Amino acid sequence: MTFAARRVPLDARSQNAHNFLVATTQSIIVIGGGLAGLAAATALAEHGRRVIILEARNRLGGRASSFRDTASGQLVDTCQHVSMGCCTNLAHFFRTLGVADLIEPQPCLFFMTSDRRLSRFRSSPWPAPFHLAGSFLAAHYLTPLEKLRIAYGLACLRLGGDDDPPFQDWLDRHAQTPRTVERFWGLVLVSALNEVPERIGLRYARKVFLDGFLRHRRGFEVELPRVPLGRLYGEELQAWLTRHEVDLRLNTGVKLIHVADGQVERIELRDGSTVQAHAYVAAVPFDRLLDMLPAQVVEAHAAFRELRRLETSPITSVHLWHDRPILDLPHVVLIGCAGQWVFNRGAVAAGEHYTQVVVSAARQFRGLGQEEVQRLIVAEVNRLFPKAGSAKLLRARVITEHAATFSAVPGVDCYRPPQASPLPNLFLAGDWTATGWPATMEGAVRSGYLAAEKVLGHTGLLVPDLR
Ligand SMILES: Cc1cc2nc3c(=O)[nH]c(=O)nc-3n(C[C@H](O)[C@H](O)[C@H](O)COP(=O)(O)OP(=O)(O)OC[C@H]3O[C@@H](n4cnc5c(N)ncnc54)[C@H](O)[C@@H]3O)c2cc1C
Repeated sequence: MTFAARRVPLDARSQNAHNFLVATTQSIIVIGGGLAGLAAATALAEHGRRVIILEARNRLGGRASSFRDTASGQLVDTCQHVSMGCCTNLAHFFRTLGVADLIEPQPCLFFMTSDRRLSRFRSSPWPAPFHLAGSFLAAHYLTPLEKLRIAYGLACLRLGGDDDPPFQDWLDRHAQTPRTVERFWGLVLVSALNEVPERIGLRYARKVFLDGFLRHRRGFEVELPRVPLGRLYGEELQAWLTRHEVDLRLNTGVKLIHVADGQVERIELRDGSTVQAHAYVAAVPFDRLLDMLPAQVVEAHAAFRELRRLETSPITSVHLWHDRPILDLPHVVLIGCAGQWVFNRGAVAAGEHYTQVVVSAARQFRGLGQEEVQRLIVAEVNRLFPKAGSAKLLRARVITEHAATFSAVPGVDCYRPPQASPLPNLFLAGDWTATGWPATMEGAVRSGYLAAEKVLGHTGLLVPDLR
């Protein structure tokens, strides 16, 4: 019998962090309960591996999570998360957990300019890449000549290779104007990559347009959770982990990864106790990993050292609760406005209607206080959606994640390490590892699955020792 086909009983499992040293020597420890860690844990548990998740916070989901709002007791997402039809690994992850029905595809996208005119984007019966051509030709916010320029740009993008020069240079060389950049290329890329076109490399810009708009009829469809993220990654996930005997340790922060003889020897927790396992998956943000590893190990290996070169970009979300609905549409993409996406979250309590406005690559708000950002966004919402002007704003909250995602700058993939690290029993997962995807939930899940694949290869070699 191979180890892969064998379920290891957890009868020796301890409930106390101080004494699970012995219990975990044949286990795989996943550090971090964000989507990357959860994807790795589910893939490993499905293959009969004994998995322990160590998560510093009191909740799962990492950056894709909710918090309990003290004012209302409601679960509030730190920021609205959306996926797209092209996020196939994320869709697999949702199916695995049994939460796919909590995701609602949006077959129509709504675009609004500051004069409140609206365009709709939906698929026609034509095959890809022409399925959006009808909506594109009808878009009110681009002139016919601009549409021609963009169509030419898209055709050139399809033919390009895998190089990664600055995208802005490419746009300049391919007949694009400041207005086509602002109203088309930038509009899509800022929300997809959380970065402005001037700082983006061609590789991920191309990926967004090919995967999202040109390759498949459903690739562009935005998918919105019907529930807060804390619910999406909640009951079913916990039940799945329990069913598969995954040992979940919340409020268990890892302080240090101790390395001896070129591999991980043990993990030191913040409470001072230590843990050993067969293999380790570090699924924490890259700056956290750098803090956990010994400085000399970081210096010795480019895969760790080069992580310092990754840059990050902020996202601001403005949460508004009104006493009545202010929006008839499920979402609106704003063009030429301070806000970028407006999400209608509907009634969340009696007489409370929740709207979220998201601004990616939100560096323009630096130096502004939360009240100023709120005032700016509320004024814009009141102007764009007349029902908001007559509704009462019950509460508002501004949240900025300063290092929301890494920036897909030109050449960024040179600094993203593969999931097999230079230490043979340490594996890496996280949206920042080499996945071929930008920093997204899809990228995080892919990284977790890839890390699990590497772990299975590694632990497979140790089968005789485990019998
Ligand atoms: C504001 C915002 C909006 C976003 N919007 C979208 C979107 O619309 N669509 C999309 O696809 N993506 C979006 N993203 C990106 C997406 O959230 C991330 O790409 C993804 O969640 C990253 O998952 P991860 O597991 O790699 O990392 P994380 O989610 O960061 O998970 C890491 C986990 O490790 C834990 N941890 C850290 N240190 C320790 C330690 N010492 N010991 C133990 N555990 C530790 C953390 O608590 C966390 O749970 C957004 C991100 C932000 C911040």
